[in-house]
Amino acid sequence: MAHKFKKIMEDIDFFLKKNTICSITYFFFKLIHFFKFIFLFIIYFNQAYSIELVNLRFGSNGEIKRIVLDLSQDTSFNSKVFDKRIEIFFKDEIEVKKKFTTKNDLSEIAYNKKLKKLSLNFNKNIFSTNIYLLKKKKEFHSRIVIDYSSKKKKRKIIIIDPGHGGRDSGAVGIFKNLEKNITLKVGLLLKKRFEQTTNYKVILTREKDFFLKLRSRTRIAKKNNADIFISLHADFHRNSRARGISLYTLSERASDKEAAALARRENKSDLIDGVDLSEETSEVTSILLDLTKRDTLNQSSLLVKFLIKSFKNDFNLLQRTHRSAGFAVLKSLDIPSVLLEMGYLSNKNDSKLLISEDYQRKLSDKIVKAVINYFNWKEKNDI
Ligand SMILES: [Zn+2]
Repeated sequence: MAHKFKKIMEDIDFFLKKNTICSITYFFFKLIHFFKFIFLFIIYFNQAYSIELVNLRFGSNGEIKRIVLDLSQDTSFNSKVFDKRIEIFFKDEIEVKKKFTTKNDLSEIAYNKKLKKLSLNFNKNIFSTNIYLLKKKKEFHSRIVIDYSSKKKKRKIIIIDPGHGGRDSGAVGIFKNLEKNITLKVGLLLKKRFEQTTNYKVILTREKDFFLKLRSRTRIAKKNNADIFISLHADFHRNSRARGISLYTLSERASDKEAAALARRENKSDLIDGVDLSEETSEVTSILLDLTKRDTLNQSSLLVKFLIKSFKNDFNLLQRTHRSAGFAVLKSLDIPSVLLEMGYLSNKNDSKLLISEDYQRKLSDKIVKAVINYFNWKEKNDI
C-alpha cells in the first residue's frame, strides 16, 4: 500500500514538473513550504531565547531591603535611581506576562515595551541603592538584585588637609615647585571627586593659599565631627634617587630615624608662627595609652592598608610604605588620621608626576576608591 502511494506521489510530481503552468504552481507550493519552515523556526527560536520576567521576590537583611527580579535569560541593563523610583533599561526586550503583586515599600511596577524600561515606584524615599545581576545558573533563574535602604545614612565626613600654605611653602622641588601648591591641587580634586558620591562629604582644612597652624587643622576635624582625616604632603630627601609614596600613622615612637626627622620637619610648620607643639607631647603620649586612642590608631592603620591596596598596582611605593612618627597633625584623639606623602619633590621622576594633572587625578581617584572601600569594609564587619 505504502509502495503504491509513493508511486502515485512520484507520478504527480512528474506530471507537475512536465507541465509548464503546473511548474509555476509547483514552484509556489515549494516556496510556501519554505516560508512555513522559516516561520516555524523563528517561533521556535523566539521561544527558546525570549527573556521573560518570571518572578518578583522580596527580602530584607537588617536595614538593607532587597527586591529580586527573576528572568528566564541573562541580559544586560542600565539603571537610574531617583528619590522614590528605580528605572531599569534593558538591552533586550522583556516579556512581562503576569501582573505582579507589589509589597513592602514597592507601590507599583510597570514595563514600557517600547523603551524596554521597567519602572519600580516606591511609596517612600530610598537610599544606598545597589543594583546588580546574578547570572543564570543551572537551577536558578538569571536575577537582577536591587538592594536599598529606606533610612538615610549619615554622610561620612572626610577632612582633607592640604599640607602647608601661605608663608609655609613646605618642600621646594627640584623644578622649584612648591609642596603647598601640589597639596592644595590634589585636595581640591579630592573634594570634587567626593562631591560625585552621595554618602561622603569632604571638608578641606584650606581651600586657598594661606597659612594654617597644625592645631587649627585638627580643630577643624574635631569641630566637624570628622570620620577620617587625611593630610596631604610631598616629601624631600637629600638622596635624589629616593622616590615613591609613603603613608604615616601616629606613633609615640617613630618607626625609624627618617620618619622621626620627617615628623620634625612637618611639625616645624607651627614654629613659623611661634608655637612649639613639642611641649604637648608628654600629655598626648599619656592619652595615647587610652583605649579609644588605640582603637583610633587601629582604624588609621586599616585606612592605610586600604590606601596601599588601592595604590600598589599603579604607583611607586616607598619600601615599608606604612611608617609611623609623632606628627602633630595626626594627634586627634578619636579621628582616624593618616598622613600621605605623595612622592619626593627631590626626585626628578616623582616631581614630574606630582605636578602633572594626570597623576594628580589618578591619585585622587585611588584615594576615593580606598576611602569608600574602607567604610564599606567597616560597615560589613560592624566596626
Ligand atoms: Zn609636608
